Amino acid sequence: MTKRRKTIGGNWKMNLNRKDSIALAEKLVGETDMQSLDLCIYPALPYLDTVAGVLAEAGSSIKLGAQNFHGKSNGSFTGEISLEMLRDIDCQTVLVGHSERRHKLGESDVLVNQKLRAALDTGFDTTLCIGETLKQREADQTNAVNTAQLCYGLAGVTSDQLRQVTLAYEPVWAIGTGESATPEDAASAHAAIRRYMEFAYGKAAAAAIRIQYGGSVKPDNAAEFFAQTDIDGALVGGASLEAEDFLRIIQLAK
Ligand code: PEP
Repeated sequence: MTKRRKTIGGNWKMNLNRKDSIALAEKLVGETDMQSLDLCIYPALPYLDTVAGVLAEAGSSIKLGAQNFHGKSNGSFTGEISLEMLRDIDCQTVLVGHSERRHKLGESDVLVNQKLRAALDTGFDTTLCIGETLKQREADQTNAVNTAQLCYGLAGVTSDQLRQVTLAYEPVWAIGTGESATPEDAASAHAAIRRYMEFAYGKAAAAAIRIQYGGSVKPDNAAEFFAQTDIDGALVGGASLEAEDFLRIIQLAK
């Protein structure tokens, strides 16, 4: 059986000011032992460069991630930020397809795919988020929705490029709601995702790809998720804003 290294993401979303972002990053670099897992933080865009400085000064191997970007390298795209700009400030990884961008900001599967491919072509590690809404879940469409989002999202992505990809299964109804999937439900969705990846990319690639669970992961439920065979870590929103909670979750993933 392939042993996959756990991977934890802290998605700070549109939270924390400059001072709080620095303070949280400093606590994480001071107290996180990165021997046995990968950790990435996604600060709000205005503070990415500042947090990059904190990580660099500490020589930390915590990765810096961007929550959003534009797929074009430059040009007339008012308000947007390119992957080249992100690389210039030592950002190594990006999120694509987060449900808040799909459902609150109208990002389509086609756009998600364009952004994912642009990120991979530019050499970024990329986390592709997928997941069903409550209505879809109640209609028993969880696996169908995940498969469709994988199929669209990964269109044109080669087996080589897949090595840069992490998947995050995040049921929309569980994000920021305090309500999480049961570990068994999450495990079943993850197993179906891995089966699809085997169909699309073969056994070895499916066994190697890491699939995070996201949706109200907290210190008191994280261990149960991490104990599931196909769950390789977590993408954490709310609980990544408090050093104590986030560090506890990181600890449980080891
Ligand atoms: C997320 O933003 O990806 C997320 C999972 O948020 P939360 O942990 O707050 O549900």
